[in-house]
Amino acid sequence: MSIAINKQKCVGCGRCQNVCPGSLIKIDESGKAYIKYPKDCWGCTSCIKECPVHAINFYLGADIGGMGSMVHTEKSGDILSWIIEKPQGDTIKIDINQRESNKY
Ligand code: SF4
Ligand code: SF4
Repeated sequence: MSIAINKQKCVGCGRCQNVCPGSLIKIDESGKAYIKYPKDCWGCTSCIKECPVHAINFYLGADIGGMGSMVHTEKSGDILSWIIEKPQGDTIKIDINQRESNKY
């Protein structure tokens, strides 16, 4: 499991660095986030949900059926959208109402 940080999109807010429970994310000298040891990431997805500019993607590897797809989140009000981009270009969007996250 691992993440990929798009440095072109990163605005250097440091939120991902603050929420990573393993302190895996650092900010480089140009003010952009990076992950030094990607293999240490255990995929908690905290950083992905925290990034305000959707600069962090999570790899859905073949071993969990993702076949190389990437996922990131976007937030609008109470709705958290999980957006899966497949290698072939297809996109799947799953909306979760965070107000109902404890419903079941
Ligand atoms: S997914 Fe979790 S463990 Fe991996 S870099 Fe992001 S916050 Fe850290
Ligand atoms: S949360 Fe997003 S924008 Fe902020 S430092 Fe991390 S990758 Fe960059």
